[in-house]
Amino acid sequence: MKRNFVTDLEEYKNSRDRNFYGQDTRRKIEIAPGIEIGGPRVVLMAGPCSIESEEQFVMTAARVKENGAAIIRGGIYKPRTSPYSFQGIGRAGYSVLDSVRQLGVPVISEILDVRLIDEMAPHVDVFQVGTRNMFNYALLKELGKINKPVLLKRAMMATIEEFLGAAEYILSHGNANVILCERGIRSFDSNTRFCLDLASIPVLREKSDLPIVVDPSHGTGVARYVESMSLAAIAAGADGLLIEVHPNPDKALSDSKQTISCEDFELLASRANQVANAIGRSI
Ligand code: PEP
Ligand code: MN
Repeated sequence: MKRNFVTDLEEYKNSRDRNFYGQDTRRKIEIAPGIEIGGPRVVLMAGPCSIESEEQFVMTAARVKENGAAIIRGGIYKPRTSPYSFQGIGRAGYSVLDSVRQLGVPVISEILDVRLIDEMAPHVDVFQVGTRNMFNYALLKELGKINKPVLLKRAMMATIEEFLGAAEYILSHGNANVILCERGIRSFDSNTRFCLDLASIPVLREKSDLPIVVDPSHGTGVARYVESMSLAAIAAGADGLLIEVHPNPDKALSDSKQTISCEDFELLASRANQVANAIGRSI
């Protein structure tokens, strides 16, 4: 894969300081022809936490696409809390991702390991960097050397400055296609899995020119709270949502408690469109 090389880091830093901070500039990132994050449309990214089989992924993709998802999510390498939990189908997932891409629908999938960039790149349209890897600067620098869009999730214990610093690692190495994703931070309360920090949306908007996406599935950890947080995120200015959907959430091999059904996604998408319309946007 063709690599970008950093010629002058200092010069890049100066140009960022000059051009971006404190100004109302917005970066738009094209994922595929006609699909842009950071433009007037709010982009829905939906699909299972983990790809389990070709049938499950293709079926879910068709359902969520029909109801307004522009990009399909599906993990094949899973960073699970326990090493004994399902770790994803791994390389067997490349052809499954391809079968959805062949239908003309872009996909996003998590990259866990710097050594997998070249082999995974041909099968994804967006690389997802998960909460646990936001501080993996070696991975971020390597993703900076290619041009494929990267959705960078906020680490569950990162301040906003640390989050923006991580994004700069990718940008300063030559990849301009970075999307920020708020997915919740640790708090002391266990009613929700994380505390979805929606206040970070206006803060990030002020401090950065990058598109901002919200993940209400990991942000709450509870399927029945996903819709209200999705609507709130759009109202607060999010450019997109990343949502876990499964044809049979109770049977999902990962994150089943926070996963919504295809039917619930349909309802969510139509309400999301109404909220988007209210602020002059659409799904
Ligand atoms: C995921 O998107 O399935 C995931 C593991 O997310 P996070 O890194 O936010 O926990
Ligand atoms: Mn998940």
